[in-house]
Amino acid sequence: KPPCLIVLGMAGSGKSSFVQRLTAHLHSKKIAPYVINLDPAVMKVPYPANIDIRDTVKYKEVMREYGLGPNGAIMTCLNLLCTRFDQVLDILKKREATIPYCIIDTPGQIEAFTWSASGSIITDTLASTYPTMIAYVIDSSRAVNPTTFMSNMLYACSILYRSKLPFFLVLNKADIVKPTFITKWMNDFEEFQEALDETQGTYMNDLTRSLSLVLDSFYEGLNSVMVSSTTGEGIEQVLEVIEKCKKEYSTVYKPMYDKLL
Ligand code: GDP
Repeated sequence: KPPCLIVLGMAGSGKSSFVQRLTAHLHSKKIAPYVINLDPAVMKVPYPANIDIRDTVKYKEVMREYGLGPNGAIMTCLNLLCTRFDQVLDILKKREATIPYCIIDTPGQIEAFTWSASGSIITDTLASTYPTMIAYVIDSSRAVNPTTFMSNMLYACSILYRSKLPFFLVLNKADIVKPTFITKWMNDFEEFQEALDETQGTYMNDLTRSLSLVLDSFYEGLNSVMVSSTTGEGIEQVLEVIEKCKKEYSTVYKPMYDKLL
């Protein structure tokens, strides 16, 4: 069965660019992934999508018809698609023998997917059948600020907590700043403390210091890849991490899920 990669990350972290780069890389190796776009509000999708939420629900019309603002409309579009997600699964099932990877791009605003019922339903439905994993995209150039880094990591941690799925970090925009500082921070909290001392005032410092100790066990064994979606650097390693997560799914997630059924 094809691994399903759910791509999450803060708005502007580079989710769509990452999906585009990964898709192009696979095509260059004569591997054709199955790509699903779940962002109803995006103007232009920079990759060929096999299934596009925008073909099913029209964001602007949903706004008008239901009198909703931008965020409410995104949630409603996702809900509407969710009611038809069985059809998406049927298509996947029919073609699963010929699909090497399924890649899913999510709405720009991360909460629309991670804190919505339909996001959970879509994730759980996929994960009950396919080796599903989460690629969490981080804008490395913004993570140079230790508190921005910390809030991003807390978010990543909460997603892992909710989904309990195999998970890896995509340290994106490696062409702007080498994300080695992030892996250093994750491996050695004293390095992180030093960076904090240089930049922050005392209140935030104490809190962030304590949090970094708490997150230490979250960082342990966490997979990460340094990637530039612009230059393509690091994309080959993404395929290796996907393999690793696929194994993790069958040894850890699937047995746990089967027990619940
Ligand atoms: P999304 O909202 O998470 O889907 O983010 P986008 O893929 O739309 O990217 C947001 C912005 O970051 C765009 O202007 C991209 O060109 C830029 N971007 C994405 N990935 C990279 C990268 O690896 N390097 C650089 N320099 N810019 C990037």
